[in-house]
Amino acid sequence: MSFNSLGLSDALLKAINKKGYDKPSPIQEKAIPPILEGKDVLASAQTGTGKTAGFTLPLLQILSEGTIKRQRPVRALILTPTRELAAQIFENVKEYSEFLDIRSAVIFGGVNQRPQVAQLRRGVDVLVATPGRLLDLCNQNVLSLSNVEIFVLDEADRMLDMGFVRDIERIIKLIPKKRQNLMFSATFSKDIKRLATGILTHPVSVEATPENTTVEVIKQKVFRVAKAKKTGLIIKMISEGNWQQVLVFTRTKHGANNLTKKMISAGITAAAIHGNKSQGARTKALAGFKDGSIRVMVATDIAARGLDIPLLPHVINFEIPNIPEDYVHRIGRTGRAGASGIAISLVSADETSFLTDIQKLIGMKIPVEIIEGFEPDPNASTEPVKQGGGRRAPRGGGNNNSGRKSTKSSNTSNSGRRSRDRRN
Ligand code: ADP
Ligand code: MG
Repeated sequence: MSFNSLGLSDALLKAINKKGYDKPSPIQEKAIPPILEGKDVLASAQTGTGKTAGFTLPLLQILSEGTIKRQRPVRALILTPTRELAAQIFENVKEYSEFLDIRSAVIFGGVNQRPQVAQLRRGVDVLVATPGRLLDLCNQNVLSLSNVEIFVLDEADRMLDMGFVRDIERIIKLIPKKRQNLMFSATFSKDIKRLATGILTHPVSVEATPENTTVEVIKQKVFRVAKAKKTGLIIKMISEGNWQQVLVFTRTKHGANNLTKKMISAGITAAAIHGNKSQGARTKALAGFKDGSIRVMVATDIAARGLDIPLLPHVINFEIPNIPEDYVHRIGRTGRAGASGIAISLVSADETSFLTDIQKLIGMKIPVEIIEGFEPDPNASTEPVKQGGGRRAPRGGGNNNSGRKSTKSSNTSNSGRRSRDRRN
């Protein structure tokens, strides 16, 4: 299958060619034709499988075939949960529309709104946005969504996780009822299907599962270690292994900052990326990590989700996530584009039950190793740690364990996450 046979215009094919893509990815192959037919589409495929082009290319084609209005009202709205994702999608939209008469813009919070407003006033065909800033600008009447023809919900699973459902509902009230809806997600959960039912009309569902599941391609290891010795162990691994590009996950922002400082003291260039960092700091950290000037990027789950960092050889879970699905997302950052990677998890006694949940989810036992001098503490309690980062906020004084269990029904936890994550 080639891009030519998907029915895309010459202008788009030229842009695709410039990007250097040889052929469509499986999800692109499946999603592009029904979108071009004007159908609502619900698509799910793992992170890194090219979902952005899967909706952007046909969307641009449809817009360029329609009539371009002089005022340039927003005709396509792409919603995404975080600033980084918004910026990345916008980059893609710009690249793919290079040879078309299409204007695009991106808006997100955390930065001055004035340049965004000025740009909207000049007219924009495709708008990429995070929900908070979008609603802000709509409320201020600087932006109208009454001409939206195509509505895209990207990273829909993350939107749910981050408690954006209400905002999405508010936004839908601002766009015309008659429109084409596209929903893209890395996972295909019951919650996603429920959300889709409320938004999409007779959708075509497309799914692409990779030949090798993440879990098979990626080499996984668990190191049992005393909590107090984790920092020493991770520094030893990175230094002795001479690893040059390592993505490290912590459970909390505070933990990310702390570990980053210790890495730097140990002579390893490192930067933290999380929701409390300014947009400038996050962009700079990501750029440094991509160009190799920063060896270690320490991230929280929310900050890292969906970031396009190709070919990561090493992912280390300094703390394993209390939400098992997050483990799969984290280790999905290695072994992208067919390259193999290694995912290491440092597990202390208090994380034992999290590990059990993860192994249940991935359906395999991860091989365990112990390094001399960094042994687990035989006297440490296996009671789960307090949930950090606001991800788990059990109401009504539930104990930690019940907080963790409540992730499945996710209502409680979503409200807990909301206050923090909406700042993205
Ligand atoms: P997802 O949204 O599924 O996580 P992205 O859209 O961010 O994935 O794409 C991941 C990477 O794959 C990007 O670097 C993108 O440029 C690249 N990519 C997308 N489509 C193709 C293709 N057809 N061939 C090669 N690379 C592609
Ligand atoms: Mg994506």
